[in-house]
Amino acid sequence: MKNLKPLYIIILLLIISAFLIWQYGLSSEPQIDNQIIQEEPIVQDRIVEIKIEPNSTYGQLMKEAGAEPVVYAAIFNAAKDVYNLTSIRAERSLFLYFDGETDEFKRLVYQIDSEEELFVVYRESCRPEAGQPLADIVYRNATSTDQIEDQGCWEAERLPIVYEIKEVTQEGELETSLYQWALDNEVDVRAILDLADAYQWTIDFAIDPKAGDTFKFIYEERYRDGEYIMPGKILAAKYINEGAEYQIYYFEETDENKGHFDENGVSVQKDLLKAPINYKYITSGFTTGLRCLSYFSLCTNHRAIDYAAAAGTPIRSVGDGTVVFAGWNSGGYGYLTTIRHNDTYSTNYAHQSKILVSYGQKVKQGDIIGKVGSTGLSTGPHLHYEILKHGTKINPLTLELPPGEPIKEENKERFFQEIEKYQDMLNQ
Ligand SMILES: [Zn+2]
Repeated sequence: MKNLKPLYIIILLLIISAFLIWQYGLSSEPQIDNQIIQEEPIVQDRIVEIKIEPNSTYGQLMKEAGAEPVVYAAIFNAAKDVYNLTSIRAERSLFLYFDGETDEFKRLVYQIDSEEELFVVYRESCRPEAGQPLADIVYRNATSTDQIEDQGCWEAERLPIVYEIKEVTQEGELETSLYQWALDNEVDVRAILDLADAYQWTIDFAIDPKAGDTFKFIYEERYRDGEYIMPGKILAAKYINEGAEYQIYYFEETDENKGHFDENGVSVQKDLLKAPINYKYITSGFTTGLRCLSYFSLCTNHRAIDYAAAAGTPIRSVGDGTVVFAGWNSGGYGYLTTIRHNDTYSTNYAHQSKILVSYGQKVKQGDIIGKVGSTGLSTGPHLHYEILKHGTKINPLTLELPPGEPIKEENKERFFQEIEKYQDMLNQ
C-alpha cells in the first residue's frame, strides 16, 4: 500500500488542474498590461462640406471647392458605373475628406437617398486592368499611361447607410384623422404615412376611419450619431376600425418577399388598393385635405366614390392591368382612364386634368396614371372613381377581395416566433 501514495498525489493534482482549466480556461493569449500601451494620437481628417445649391453642377461645385479638374474628373469617372454624379440633388451635400496628417484629398461621400451613400475613395495601389480605358481610372497625378506606375486611383462603391435603431410604440384614439392625431401628439407625420401605406390594401384612410377608432403601432426610429433622422419600418400595428380589428406584422420571408402580414401569416397585399389616391396627399397643405365628397349610392345613381383633392394630385392605378380607355369622354366624365385588371374587375378614373397613360399600356399597382382635375361635368377638382365587376358598377367600400398570399409552411414557425414579442406589446 505504501508505494501507491505518490499515485494518489498525482491523481489529486490532475483533478485540481482539470478544475482550474475548467474554471479559467487555457490562456494562450499573452497577458497585456494595459498601462504599458501607448495610444497613437489620432489625427482627425479634415472634412469639407459642400452644400448643393439648386441648379449647381458637380463640376462647378468641385471647382469652387478648389479641386483640380483632373481629380474631380477622375472621381466622376470612377463613380459613373455605380452613381452618376450629374444627378446630385439640391439641399444635400458633398463631403470631402482630407487626410489628417498629409492633408491629401482622399475620399468623397454623397448621400444618394435615405438608404445608400456613395463613397469614392483614393487607393494608393490600384493597377489598370488589361484593356481598361485610362479615362475610367484617371490617376491623381498622372496624365499618361507611363506615369501611372505606382500611382493610386479612385474607386467608387455604394454602401447601405447603417442607422442606429430605436423601437417606439405609439397608441391613440382617433378624433378627426390620423394625420391630425400625429400633429397633436408630436409624432413624426412620416411614420403615420408609412402606417397608412402598410394598410393601403385594408383601410382607406380618407374614408374608413371614424372617431373612436383606436390604434397602436410599433415602428423604428432611425438615428445617425445620436441624431434623429427619420422613421424606419412599421414593425407591427393594430387598428380597430368601427370594432373590426386589423393587425399587421413586418416579416422578411425571403429577400424578395418582405412586407406586412396579418396575425395568421397572410400577406396584406391584395389585387386592388383601397384608394386611388395616396393618403400622403392629405398633407399637401390644403385646408380640406383629401376627403370623400360623395359616396356610392343607388338612390342618387352615383355609383362611384368622389375624392376631393387639389387639381394636379397624382392618381394611381389600384391594381396591375391594361389601359383599355384613355381620352376624352363626352358623356360627362371629361378626361377618363379605364383600366382592366383581370377577367372580373376594371376601374374608371374621371374628370382628370391630365392623363399620363395611353391605350394598351400595361400598368402596375400604384403606378401614377393621371392627375386630378375638373374636366367634364364637374363643379370642382375631384376624382370620380368607379369599380366595375363584370361590367357592373359596384360599391368600392363594400368590395371584399380574395386574401393575399400566405407565407410558406416551412417559414411559419419563424414567423410566429418573430411576431410573438410584438403581438404581446400590441395586446398589452
Ligand atoms: Zn362622382
